[in-house]
Amino acid sequence: MNSNYIISPNLTLVIPCYNEEAVLPETIRQLTLILNNLIQINKISQNSKILFIDDGSRDSTWELIESNNKVNKYVHGLKLAKNAGHQNALLAGLISAKDYSDIIISIDADLQDDLNVIHEFINKYEEGYDVVYGVRKSRSTDTFFKRSTAQGFYRLMNSMGVNLVFNHADYRLMSKRAVQHLSEFKEVNLFLRGLVPLIGFRSTEVYYDRNERFAGESKYPLKKMLAFAFDGITSFSVTPIRLITGLGFIISLFSILVAIYILISKFSGSTTSGWSSLMISIWFIGGVQLVALGLIGEYIGKIYKEVKARPKYIIEKLTLEVKDSNQNESKELASLAR
Ligand code: UDP
Ligand code: MG
Repeated sequence: MNSNYIISPNLTLVIPCYNEEAVLPETIRQLTLILNNLIQINKISQNSKILFIDDGSRDSTWELIESNNKVNKYVHGLKLAKNAGHQNALLAGLISAKDYSDIIISIDADLQDDLNVIHEFINKYEEGYDVVYGVRKSRSTDTFFKRSTAQGFYRLMNSMGVNLVFNHADYRLMSKRAVQHLSEFKEVNLFLRGLVPLIGFRSTEVYYDRNERFAGESKYPLKKMLAFAFDGITSFSVTPIRLITGLGFIISLFSILVAIYILISKFSGSTTSGWSSLMISIWFIGGVQLVALGLIGEYIGKIYKEVKARPKYIIEKLTLEVKDSNQNESKELASLAR
């Protein structure tokens, strides 16, 4: 490849940071080296950047970003007014970066993800992929608990019809247009790993080994992890509602069997008076109520889909040149006015 004639893409690395003062200096050092290398071999433009999003940290994270910004031409920062959570911080970074980059790679601040595959990400982009997912080869560095809960979660999501890339966190490359379309998803409950596959475009995976956190502590305690998983399920699937309807039908059917059993007991004379009518009513009404709840749930699910107002389709290519449509319109208007 003769790189002299190729305009290298402008890369921005987007990194959400919440109380990351312990790890930030090292992260900046390693990322600067990587960017220097990539620029030297003309893989990316000289204007490439590292954009740190300070997600309302209470330590000196922002001061570190600011002081590095003065001495390191790659380092830039975006400070959120208060802690908005990992996913929102990430989205803020992606949306800001899309205005001045051709490709955007999101990565955590803690150096758990192997930075050396950034090179491979960009190779894939050059091959024409709009989205490149970083996928962990194994989860051996996780605790047994985190590993099994995470994998159980992926399986559960897949069984509910949600398309997730297995063992992919938020380490990924996205082209400018992919992020532009991502910004059209207006939902408030953000679960980016579920949204990105919905955009479409050509995507591929790059495998890497995940390390231990370089320094500092995980910002995802169990409580946040559960909330995150619950958000993922309820934002993408109406299966829980369907389960209620299903359960309702099963109980309604079962109530017929129960009714038969109760009537037999009644006529064989082994029951107290009043018991049969009470039991039959409880089972039957219980089933009917669950079906009714499920039905209402279906409508709420529909309303939920409507209020999310996700784009109905995303256009990849159009073999038609739509040029100066505004100009033509104004010409038409001018001729109408005459
Ligand atoms: N993070 C954030 N806001 C939060 C929590 C986390 O921006 O409210 C960032 C954090 O600084 C890190 C990334 O999200 O860069 C992933 O968090 P962490 O590494 O603690 O999660 P884990 O790898 O343990 O799942
Ligand atoms: Mg981490």
